[in-house]
Amino acid sequence: MKGNRADVQGIKERVDVIGLVSRYVSLSKSGANFKGRCPFHKDDTPSMVVNAEKGLWHCFGCGEGGDVIAFLMKIERLSFIEAVKRLAAEVGMSFDASEDGERDKSRRITAEAAEYFAANLTGNAAGKKARAYLLERGYDEASWTRYGLGYALAGWDNLKRRFGPRHGEAALVELGLLVRGDENTYDRFRDRTIFPIHDLSGRPIAFGGRAFDGEPKYLNSPKTPLFDKGRLLYGLPWARETMAATRTAVLVEGYTDVLTLQQAGVTNCVGSMGTSLTQGQADLLKRFVDDVVISYDQDAAGGAAAIRGMQILRNSGLGVRVVQLPSGEDPDGLVRREGGGAMEAAIQAAVPFHRFFVDRVLAEHDPSTVRGKELILDAVREFYQAVRIPTLREELERHLADLLDLSVESVRRELPRRREVHWSDRDAQGAVETWGEEEVLLALLLRGDITWDRISGVATPESFSEENRPIVEALSSGVAELTALVDHLDEESSRRASYYALAPIRFSDTDKAVKDALARLVPLPEVEQGLKDLTKEIGEAAEAGDWDRWNRLMEKKIALKARELTAKGDE
Ligand SMILES: [Zn+2]
Repeated sequence: MKGNRADVQGIKERVDVIGLVSRYVSLSKSGANFKGRCPFHKDDTPSMVVNAEKGLWHCFGCGEGGDVIAFLMKIERLSFIEAVKRLAAEVGMSFDASEDGERDKSRRITAEAAEYFAANLTGNAAGKKARAYLLERGYDEASWTRYGLGYALAGWDNLKRRFGPRHGEAALVELGLLVRGDENTYDRFRDRTIFPIHDLSGRPIAFGGRAFDGEPKYLNSPKTPLFDKGRLLYGLPWARETMAATRTAVLVEGYTDVLTLQQAGVTNCVGSMGTSLTQGQADLLKRFVDDVVISYDQDAAGGAAAIRGMQILRNSGLGVRVVQLPSGEDPDGLVRREGGGAMEAAIQAAVPFHRFFVDRVLAEHDPSTVRGKELILDAVREFYQAVRIPTLREELERHLADLLDLSVESVRRELPRRREVHWSDRDAQGAVETWGEEEVLLALLLRGDITWDRISGVATPESFSEENRPIVEALSSGVAELTALVDHLDEESSRRASYYALAPIRFSDTDKAVKDALARLVPLPEVEQGLKDLTKEIGEAAEAGDWDRWNRLMEKKIALKARELTAKGDE
């Protein structure tokens, strides 16, 4: 929980973003904004824009951005609470994060549960199958202790009977140790080998459980007051020292991958607990390393979730390479069959992630035919557009030009799409040139050029892609003030919001830009269907004599009708 929202907002309103940022970055005035060299990546051109009135900052080089709290968290490596406390003190306010006592209690219970699972593994006859499984995987008794491994007994209420009377079932449910069913609470982890998940200081805060047979094979603690999977990496306390020393992390998927690699001497290895890596995890990695080597199960590595994760890492300014294993192979299996040396060699041979992606696409199409070239460019387009770093875009363009035997210029011309939206990109840098309709509308909304009402007759939050939807939902629910809006959003969404709000782009004709973007966002057939539905509803409203509703629907219909005319005029 983000503490008391009203207090945080009050503190933010009192902090001068220019004053704060200029303690670390030399800023100069540039139009309505200030500009400076970004402290979060190697920035030769001043790419960081700060806006006093909006209370926001954004770097158009590396994509970092947000409000004053986000800035202080990043530059001083503070937690949210620490950053808020420090800003509060500066503006003469106090901020009470009174959950400290509660957290201590939660930590104690979780530590006790970890001890209980560990004792089941070594001191209980029923733990025999878990012991056999671990030994068979190559984890000896010393490693059980080192990694805190355990066993959850079969049966529905072993933990509940032991912990319930002392701590109360509500607390155990909150920590994810019990599950609340229709009638009763019961143990979440049953007949599973337990891998405790630790925080940075090495304290257990959650658990992963592996089944012997049956589904799901892996079961994690849910999000709890102590644990947020998206902000943690498995194995961090064992890896942090080597990570900091080598400035490189090896990122794998599962618990056993981490343990096997750790034991094989790859001690900078951490687990993402699934392939969908989050911005929170990328930020965590950035505190320790400059480069990440991804080593997922080969079939998972090419999946959409994994690719998105790699892009998050790269857009965060981290170097990203991908280990290529034979199909069907995972790091755990490779080490067990061929030893740590084979893994070290695979890590050395890892390829930059954009090459990895392009190679996969190339394997599916024939680059020597015109049709094949088209298909390849189509397949790379979305990937290309998600790359925010100009130098990487250039490298990708060159690589593709080489492979397809085309000039860099024609690749550059072909890759962006939806270019016809009207705006002046005189000022714009790399990313802005490839904006689509969503980006245009969000920028117009977030700068206050238009309000949500202007487009609500035609577009709904569902018209926008999943990644932008949280912003649109906040806007459509009436949160218009930018710093308040950022407060409603998760970290990734507020980074996006600051980007759209501060992007250096001017619309020569706002009205035309809105119309064009709407026409692309909501295609004509959808508009026509919408008109049909509305006409029917308007008839019903008239019949029922509900004139308020009739009025609202008519307004919607007029907006849609205008949309239809624009769309048809374009054809
Ligand atoms: Zn930057």
